[in-house]
Amino acid sequence: TYILAIESSCDDTSAAVLLNGKVLSNVVATQKIHEEYGGVVPELASRAHQQNIVPVVHTALNKANIGKKELSAIAFTSGPGLLGSLLVGTSFAKSLALALHIPLIEVNHMQAHILAHFIEDQGQDKPSFPFLAMTISGGHTQIIRADGFFDMTVIGETIDDAVGEAFDKSAKILGLPYPGGPLIDRYAREGNPGAFAFPKPKVDGLDFSFSGLKTSILYFVRKHQKEDPAFVEHHLKDICASIQYTIVNILMDKLKKASKETGIRQIAIGGGVSANSGIREALKKGEKKYGWKTYIPKFEYTTDNAAMIGITGYLKYLENDFSSQNVTAKARFKV
Ligand code: ATP
Ligand code: FE
Repeated sequence: TYILAIESSCDDTSAAVLLNGKVLSNVVATQKIHEEYGGVVPELASRAHQQNIVPVVHTALNKANIGKKELSAIAFTSGPGLLGSLLVGTSFAKSLALALHIPLIEVNHMQAHILAHFIEDQGQDKPSFPFLAMTISGGHTQIIRADGFFDMTVIGETIDDAVGEAFDKSAKILGLPYPGGPLIDRYAREGNPGAFAFPKPKVDGLDFSFSGLKTSILYFVRKHQKEDPAFVEHHLKDICASIQYTIVNILMDKLKKASKETGIRQIAIGGGVSANSGIREALKKGEKKYGWKTYIPKFEYTTDNAAMIGITGYLKYLENDFSSQNVTAKARFKV
């Protein structure tokens, strides 16, 4: 079964070809245009998708070395995401499926982030049900209980900023370029995480909040800059280490709580922030301390990519779960 998958929910245009859950190609065109604005500009994103989609799909088919006629189905992200961006992938997938007379499969992007763990040949075990999935990215921060491929429940999520945003906005306050998350990680490795203390939010249950942290970092920097205008420059590594330490603690507190409450000790991480070295270290500790088994997909399958849409599409294909030509893009789409 050959699946062509298309992802266009945010600022990456991606196409992948999978053969029975194995990735033959996974092409991602990242939009550079947003860097100068310090964040994703929706209108520019959808225009860039329009320019990218045809060449990206062509390249994916070429790399997989198959022709359009060999495809069994087309899977695409119908949501959640930026509506203008989603519409490009949705319209393209619908037209191609219609032209080729093959089934169309809509995919929920957040489910796909979790099902990325089931892509074949990643050199690690796959989680078994039930497991907890923590999706941490630039747009999302969720803890999900997964009882089956398509039986997932959100048990905690951010009430304001996503964790990737918290990293990026903190970096911006420190004068680092966008996206600053990976830079904070890099400096943090050489800094002292106990150098500065930032307050942790008080949020009930398993939900997260990150907007307060951003504000306290802003005030912290302003206060110290009054005395030493080069304060950030002088203490960059320690500041980054302290910020990262706080963010990782916020995530781990809720994850520990979720594991305790559900009794589930299999923990699967996804989303771009799972590249963070502090998170990875904390998860390793959790394995020793709480008997967790943790799973992180290959990096290329943690950030936005079409391969994860393809594996989700393939699993739906096996269940004959197809979409009609009336399917629409949806900015909000619950798992
Ligand atoms: P979504 O997947 O929710 O649509 P997105 O496309 O912005 O959002 P990803 O591409 O999954 O998200 O992740 C990008 C985010 O991950 C950015 O906020 C970036 O700063 C952050 N990030 C990437 N690497 C690291 C790292 N090593 N440490 C901290 N943050 C990181
Ligand atoms: Fe995503």
